[in-house]
Amino acid sequence: MFCVVKIKLHWQIVIALALAVMAGSLTGKDASVFGVTFYSAYMFLGTLFLNALKMLIVPLIAASIITGIVGAGASGGVGRLGGKTILYYFFTSFIAILVGLSLVNLFTPGIIDGQPAKQLLGLSEDAGSIIANAEQRGASDVVGLFLKMVPTNVVAAAANGQMLGLIFFCLLFGFFMIKVPEPGGATLRQFWQGVFDVMMRITHWVMLFAPIGVFALVAGTVAATGFGAFKPLAAFFVTVIAALAVHMFIVLPLLLFFIARVNPKRHYQAMVPAMLMAFSTSSSSATLPLTMECVEKNAGVSNRISSFVLPLGATVNMDGTALYECVAAMFIAQAYGIELGFAVQFTIVLVALLTSIGVAGVPSASLVAIVVILTSVGLPAEGIGLILAVDRVLDMCRTSVNVFSDSCAAVVIGRSEGEKTALVG
Ligand code: ASP
Repeated sequence: MFCVVKIKLHWQIVIALALAVMAGSLTGKDASVFGVTFYSAYMFLGTLFLNALKMLIVPLIAASIITGIVGAGASGGVGRLGGKTILYYFFTSFIAILVGLSLVNLFTPGIIDGQPAKQLLGLSEDAGSIIANAEQRGASDVVGLFLKMVPTNVVAAAANGQMLGLIFFCLLFGFFMIKVPEPGGATLRQFWQGVFDVMMRITHWVMLFAPIGVFALVAGTVAATGFGAFKPLAAFFVTVIAALAVHMFIVLPLLLFFIARVNPKRHYQAMVPAMLMAFSTSSSSATLPLTMECVEKNAGVSNRISSFVLPLGATVNMDGTALYECVAAMFIAQAYGIELGFAVQFTIVLVALLTSIGVAGVPSASLVAIVVILTSVGLPAEGIGLILAVDRVLDMCRTSVNVFSDSCAAVVIGRSEGEKTALVG
């Protein structure tokens, strides 16, 4: 007789992570069997898993925002819920940026032994394409991000991953669906609730493959990057990690404790699977299905709140990203030996806040936003090349913070709507 021991999903992911680090560093990029490199096998499996997650995003965002709006509408609170959520998102992203700004000014990672670190670091060869992109970019890009919010073609917006456009359309759709009289209104509501239920079931099924997907993604990253890339950028790396840690382990728990009045420790426990998934995929959008599952099943937030707050948050609320953009821009300025006054630092804060809203929840999405910041304050866009070597690992970390912050928002907003959640006490 077989004794089947069911290991919890997050432990399976932790084991997969550990095995991936070992496998990735053992095989590197070139080891192969029968002419097939391990690296290409990692990439194949990892891409397959990411594709499966991405496949869920459009129908899940559409169904959850529409049902979320309808749920909020049923209790007469669409405007109140929406207003509160957006305000909260602005507030936490702003605090995150201030944390980043303080630490980058304190640690000055771009100055090594009293000298700007430019020579020490050298420019990465991969910077070419990003620099080419940068030529046409500027402050007008921030305006462009907001123009995309009202898409000319919602199907094209969904197909091209312009989630802000899709979200805006779904918000309108849900809002006006409430106003459709019976029997059409009820049919529509049942239909969208049905789509949502199906999407959650598919998500559950895809998640069964998470340990394999995580293994492949992380082994691929370790095999490609190795550990050597970190040394010259250690100070920058440490500054970003320290700032992310302050936000994740001090600021957000304080909000959970004082505003939501819940036990932060229990919230961490509830969110472990989603954070591991965010860490492995570097994509808040791809993690969204699991974030919703953890927030509802483990943290006990109602579907009414989570299906509205989380899909919105996965796109517009990126605390880790906002913080990173600010630290990266300041680091690049320091490395080039450029002194930045209050006004310029203020511009960086503002542009980081705005671009973090428009940045997509996909790997390395902030790089483009950082170029926007650099050009809008007149810093050399080539500077982006300085940080490419460590971007992927920092992406893993900032995405976890992005996802954790969204989950905190769901709890805070849920509590403010009088929900009890599972985390009290
Ligand atoms: N990878 C991040 C996310 O999906 C976005 C970024 O900062 O690049 O949340």
